[in-house]
Amino acid sequence: MSSEVLPSYLAGRWQAGSGETVEVLDAATGEPVTRVGAAGLDLGSAVAQARTTGRNSLRELDFHARAELLGGVADALKQRREELYGWSARAGCTRRDAAFDVDGGIGTTAYYAGLGRRELPAGTVILEDEPVRLGRGGTFAGRHLLTTPDGICLQINAFNFPVWGLLEKLAPAVLAGVPTIVKAATPTAYVAAHAVRIIVDSGLLPPGVLQFVAGDVRGLLDTLGGQDRIAFTGSAATGAVIRSHPAVTRHGVHVNVEADSLNACVLGPDAAPATAEFGLFVDTVVTELTLKTGQKCTAVRRALVPREWAAAAADAIAARLAQVVVGAPEAERVTMGPLVGRAQRDDVRAVAQRIAAVGKLVHGDPGRVEPVGADADRGAFLAPLLIQVDDPGRPEPHELEPFGPVTTLLPYRSPQELPALLARGGGALVGSIVSADHRFAAALVREAAPWQGRLLVLDAGCAGESTGHGTVMPQLIHGGPGRAGGGQELGGLRAVHGLMRRTAVQGSPDLLATLADSSGHETTDDASR
Ligand code: NAP
Repeated sequence: MSSEVLPSYLAGRWQAGSGETVEVLDAATGEPVTRVGAAGLDLGSAVAQARTTGRNSLRELDFHARAELLGGVADALKQRREELYGWSARAGCTRRDAAFDVDGGIGTTAYYAGLGRRELPAGTVILEDEPVRLGRGGTFAGRHLLTTPDGICLQINAFNFPVWGLLEKLAPAVLAGVPTIVKAATPTAYVAAHAVRIIVDSGLLPPGVLQFVAGDVRGLLDTLGGQDRIAFTGSAATGAVIRSHPAVTRHGVHVNVEADSLNACVLGPDAAPATAEFGLFVDTVVTELTLKTGQKCTAVRRALVPREWAAAAADAIAARLAQVVVGAPEAERVTMGPLVGRAQRDDVRAVAQRIAAVGKLVHGDPGRVEPVGADADRGAFLAPLLIQVDDPGRPEPHELEPFGPVTTLLPYRSPQELPALLARGGGALVGSIVSADHRFAAALVREAAPWQGRLLVLDAGCAGESTGHGTVMPQLIHGGPGRAGGGQELGGLRAVHGLMRRTAVQGSPDLLATLADSSGHETTDDASR
């Protein structure tokens, strides 16, 4: 396999950087896959192309035409998804992991295509609400108008979802008429590059609508202004660096941050070991710990169980983890692949050991793994680890994020402790409550909600159709407060509205009606009534 420099797609052509590069290795074999670097690339021309060609071509299309493009993009990716699975395997993904990323991204794109066709007007601007009467005589009113900003969206993505991360941001941006430049995370940039290649090969998106950088974009950030947006996904530490970038602080570049999250899953006091809910809790913890080798921003890091059932929960989870087969992602029988790289594996191991130092390891040995079909010394393998910390007040499980196959079991004494324990994560993307006691669950939802982006209440009645703790649905918002970044993505049309610029327009009801007519909206004269 070659280790040539991975090309970026800028100003209408694939071009490789010429300076310093970072070598990226296969997660399982340690063989070189590619080298990543953007030195020598003219990122300024890419921004200029997005601002002119990309912007103008999208403006010539109304929402419905943009939705058609997205539908075509989803189809093109679907037809070639096996290629994406193949590249994902090099990054350590089993087929199930790859499907989560690749099919999740395609599904989200298709969802936005449908939403655009069904729920957006046949124009290029959105009148958000009904006119509001502002004068007694009914001659003066106001209304909110959403227009496409004169800017671009710079996506800066995390390594763990190279396809979904790209598409879940691209789809609303295309609908909103905003050209995109994608900066992929170095460890999996080749997977994202292949998704972009499929889209470019399809010829569907007009020039300048989608560009792609493999490598450093710090210089590009300097060119951003007040109509631009950075959509960042990654660690809280990098998010803080981006938020304090001079372009952001001086020019008011809009920044959306999706960051770390110490997500919790709570077993309700009603869910004794023999109940269906106890089984659902064990399933949730095991799935979240092993899917994508635990490298999911939404994975369960803190599993809270009633103290009297801690031993039963530990035994049940450990028994399931004992069946996990770690190894080369495409080898037979393997159910969990390696982490994305050895540096990542070493970080996760070190963080897990810091948490285990204040508790005990219930399952797995951070220093020992025997991968199937692979060499433990060459690949980034780690056994699944279950830690138990008997004092749930300890800071470590609530503050340290082991971004890999690691969960900490935290026994609680009373349900009254739960809201404070959930909040100890400092703001999370998602939390789960597994309980058939709806009074208990509803009370906890009310108390815990300010600290959670999404809350799943799982019981035997809804489990059959539940999309699960870790799955981000495009219909619902994704993003959490505080440590999780305070950002918001997806959530149906909210994502499209969020990318557009909201202006309050005031004038006569007739002016507002004319605005509605010329925007493809049905006329309403509510304000004059
Ligand atoms: P990361 O190290 O913070 O990197 C994220 C992205 O930022 C990468 O593309 C990285 O590029 C880029 N970057 C780093 N320094 C930069 C700078 N100074 N200026 C501009 N870009 C810069 O995170 P990661 O290791 O890829 O991803 C793992 C983390 O992401 C975990 O903490 C996880 O919780 C979080 N995550 C959150 C979500 C969510 O939706 N909230 C989703 C997935 C992951 P390089 O790779 O080239 O350095």
